[in-house]
Amino acid sequence: MGRSSKDKRDIYYRLAKEEGWRARSAFKLLQLDHEFNLFTGVNRAVDLCAAPGSWSQVKIVAVDLQAMAPLPGVTQIQGDITKVSTAQEIIRHFEGQPADLVVCDGAPDVTGLHDVDEYIQAQLLLAALNITTHVLKPGGTFVAKIFRGKDVTLLYSQLKIFFSGVTCAKPRSSRNSSIEAFVVCQNYCPPEGYVPNMSNPLLDHSYDVDFNQLEGPNRVIVPFLACGDLSAFDSDRTYPLQLDADKQYQYTPPTQPPICPPYQQACHLRKNNLLSREDAPSVCPSQSQNEPEP
Ligand code: SAM
Repeated sequence: MGRSSKDKRDIYYRLAKEEGWRARSAFKLLQLDHEFNLFTGVNRAVDLCAAPGSWSQVKIVAVDLQAMAPLPGVTQIQGDITKVSTAQEIIRHFEGQPADLVVCDGAPDVTGLHDVDEYIQAQLLLAALNITTHVLKPGGTFVAKIFRGKDVTLLYSQLKIFFSGVTCAKPRSSRNSSIEAFVVCQNYCPPEGYVPNMSNPLLDHSYDVDFNQLEGPNRVIVPFLACGDLSAFDSDRTYPLQLDADKQYQYTPPTQPPICPPYQQACHLRKNNLLSREDAPSVCPSQSQNEPEP
């Protein structure tokens, strides 16, 4: 695929390159902030599952399994959000002070099996919530990617135990065709006596609240909000290549290619014709070595 054809990708992908963001997902956080004023009064922010780092460009202790190129003013922790050692490292960085805001755009590698992907995404969200209970101040805010699958009500119920305000928001830059949305959880207020514990998954039914009571008045229905200015670009539409009709088209390279992407070895093998089967399916068909994931 040539360079110009790559630039026919979605409008937020191209805008991200033009405005210097590492990934198109930066617009999701910006649109969520536009709606919810997430950064007002925030001194300590944690970005869970941060790589390649476009949310950290917006704000600031960044955690990811993957290494990420440095960003000015951002402390990076290469770690797993399901580990208590990662929580301890975040706390150490803030010198024992809790964070005002935790954001999580975490996504596991998708398998293509929808039920499995939804389940794993839900587990990652719960891991993010779990680590958040270690580092967030009472009254603080937690924002996380959620898949609005069939069991989403269970997740809402679990979040409502820890936050008095839970809203499900869909930024304009998040494709309508995707079940992705973001939960904006405000006013952290854990149940009395709750002790954060990474080895005690939130799915354990050991609390007083019965997570299975999802019928009638116990069924949690959270408000749903489309956010981002209605005049903002629609991520499902195709826009012409040249945003400004007077300007000559110029290719813009990605702001920051991933420094050690998991697909690197496969690309190297394919490039050097070292894959054992010539007819093997390509590992990253639409992606060159230098391009970040959206
Ligand atoms: N918000 C980022 C941005 O705008 O640049 C994009 C995040 S990307 C969609 C999802 C990230 O989740 C991946 O980089 C992946 O490594 C990370 N991730 C998945 N599971 C994780 C885990 N258990 N601990 C830490 N990071 C994880």
